[in-house]
Amino acid sequence: MISRSRDTGMVIVVGTRKRPDGKLKAMFLLLDLWKKGVRDCFYDANLTERQFERATQRFGSSYVEPEQPLPEENSTPPEPDEEVKEQLVRVPRNTLIIEAESAIHFDNGVQLVDDPEASNGKAIVSAKDARGLYELYIPKPGKWYIWIRAFFPKDGEDSYWIGIDNAESFPRDEQGGPSAIRVRVEPGDTSKWGRWLWDTPMHPLGKRIPGYFRIKSKGYYRIWSKGREMGSRLDQILLTRSRKFNPETASEGKPIPILTAPHPYEPATFEDCQKMIRHAVEISKEVKTEFPWEFKYWINDIWGDIRKFPEHEGSLYKCHKCDADLPDQAVDLIKQHAHSDDIQFYILCRKCGGEFD
Ligand SMILES: [Zn+2]
Repeated sequence: MISRSRDTGMVIVVGTRKRPDGKLKAMFLLLDLWKKGVRDCFYDANLTERQFERATQRFGSSYVEPEQPLPEENSTPPEPDEEVKEQLVRVPRNTLIIEAESAIHFDNGVQLVDDPEASNGKAIVSAKDARGLYELYIPKPGKWYIWIRAFFPKDGEDSYWIGIDNAESFPRDEQGGPSAIRVRVEPGDTSKWGRWLWDTPMHPLGKRIPGYFRIKSKGYYRIWSKGREMGSRLDQILLTRSRKFNPETASEGKPIPILTAPHPYEPATFEDCQKMIRHAVEISKEVKTEFPWEFKYWINDIWGDIRKFPEHEGSLYKCHKCDADLPDQAVDLIKQHAHSDDIQFYILCRKCGGEFD
């Protein structure tokens, strides 16, 4: 995982491995990509998933300022005006919402599309079998009911598959792969075409039970969307412990905003993390920042042989706004002052700087 907040040049990279006994070992790294390189390292070889979550939050909050204050639970919100009231949707506890466009990986064949009626103005369209992968912490075992917010233009363009690895799905759709659920418009039902709506596969015997995934234990899961009929648009995926919650009725087909503050970290690929660490290591070496001993001692245990990490490319420091290369003159200036704590830089490439003339 990599911390979301990047506007100070400080980035937290978290790597973890599962031990044979199911416990985790984890390395938390504070990287300063604008000045000093590897700043801090914390390693723990024996964490439960819960302890890991807590350690992650703790390490994050000690270095990264929250972007906005978290809404207090049970606080009474100010009386909304009429317009806002319409958009408020009561969401049961234990409800998780994923934005389709926020996948950590898209197969070839998935397109991002702009749609003013989609949440954040963005949705995806997927060719048959093309997947979007999402990573999610599911906090409780048991049945998680599944709903998707989709736009089905017409017959033959009105379905999507959703799956969760290592979960049991109901109703299971073999063609979609292991643990897949098919959300589709029932043949002959024309009422669901041409508008955004929340949909779920209902119990085949018509018992009004939404489709669900059975989760054996809490933890991190990989959820995926998979194209079944090109043309169908996917905006949000909702998982809830509540069987009765019907987002279509609750929101009248509207997107459901993710009200909780964003998780301070986002999932990243192993290689992206290695790249970032390698970059910080190069900076540390160039400006002679002492490596934390825990970093030297444990880096290999979590991230493997550092000599095999992807090489750092281009200039040592990058434009603080767009990550483009900086000219030698700017890099030399930063190097010279890398250890002066009373000097803070905000250095831009020519293109970004040009905006301010
Ligand atoms: Zn730039």
